[in-house]
Amino acid sequence: MTQQVDLDAGRPPEVSIVVPVFNEEASVEHLVDALLRVLSGENFEVVLVNDGSTDRTATLLLELARVHPQVVIVELSRNFGQHPAVVAGFSVARGRFLVTLDADLQNPPEEIPRLLAALRSGHDVVGSVRQNRRDPWMRKQISSLVNRVTTASIGVGMRDYGCMLRGYSRDVVEEILELSEQAAFVPALAMMLATNPVEIEVQHSEREEGASRYSPLRLMRLGFDLITGFSLLPIQLVSLAGLLIALAGAALSALLFARRIVLGPESEGLFTLFAILFAFMGVLLFAVGLVGEYVGRIYAEVRRRPTYRIREVISQSAVLPETDHEEQ
Ligand code: UDP
Ligand code: MG
Repeated sequence: MTQQVDLDAGRPPEVSIVVPVFNEEASVEHLVDALLRVLSGENFEVVLVNDGSTDRTATLLLELARVHPQVVIVELSRNFGQHPAVVAGFSVARGRFLVTLDADLQNPPEEIPRLLAALRSGHDVVGSVRQNRRDPWMRKQISSLVNRVTTASIGVGMRDYGCMLRGYSRDVVEEILELSEQAAFVPALAMMLATNPVEIEVQHSEREEGASRYSPLRLMRLGFDLITGFSLLPIQLVSLAGLLIALAGAALSALLFARRIVLGPESEGLFTLFAILFAFMGVLLFAVGLVGEYVGRIYAEVRRRPTYRIREVISQSAVLPETDHEEQ
């Protein structure tokens, strides 16, 4: 029942640009203008995912979809966060090559042809490193820490996990959709799945309108998603600390015992008591860490909540029925 009215007469687009949009009324129009200009030679679609915006974004997006046949709007039922919004966009996008970027124009659309060139030359994931990144100092420090921890725990070196101006082949996107991970951190997942990844350097601009949509708390959660999503490192560190304390306590006990035999008891036996206490505390902490390890693994397996819910997909060529991710 789909009536194709777009210029390519029903031919699926070759390139899909996927953009999560959350309260970006000031920049969506500029963004779409820039994308249409940069991609004018391509057979493409722009999938804009409205992640529960509460400003005029929804109205502006509808208008954009009405005017431009290449624009597809995915309305989520509420705010799910940047990464689930990207995955929702992936589930609707039809392109062979997919490019994600932020709606706030911090990622210059002018870089897209370079990403596409890398995808066409056979790379299945095209990462990017922000040159002269324009973000607050504190943000950059946190990012750099997260990048290092992630690289160490995933084992796949990537210099800039935070930059969302990235390219993916259809295969990788299909696999990301199939995984339907709970705390999907798209660039890291893709990097894990990639067979022939490459990183290129891209420009980065300051946010022109408004402030980052990430509060420090949301940012911390995102960092945890990335780190715990890919390794059990944090809980393993707790176990390790427990083990070390237990060993130190045991060594101290042995020392005090020897001292007691040679020199006689120290004043009121207080230190011996401490030593024993420390040993027990270490064992306890170790046990808690170990239990946490198992609980963490089970938690990750068992929790199968939908990570996004699409209310409506709107484009000139088709108004698709309501989709629910819950079946997956
Ligand atoms: N975003 C989103 N849902 C959210 C938060 C952000 O879709 O809950 C979008 C936002 O509209 C933007 C992108 O994700 O397109 C990156 O957000 P932002 O620019 O606030 O993050 P930063 O540049 O500070 O990392
Ligand atoms: Mg931004």
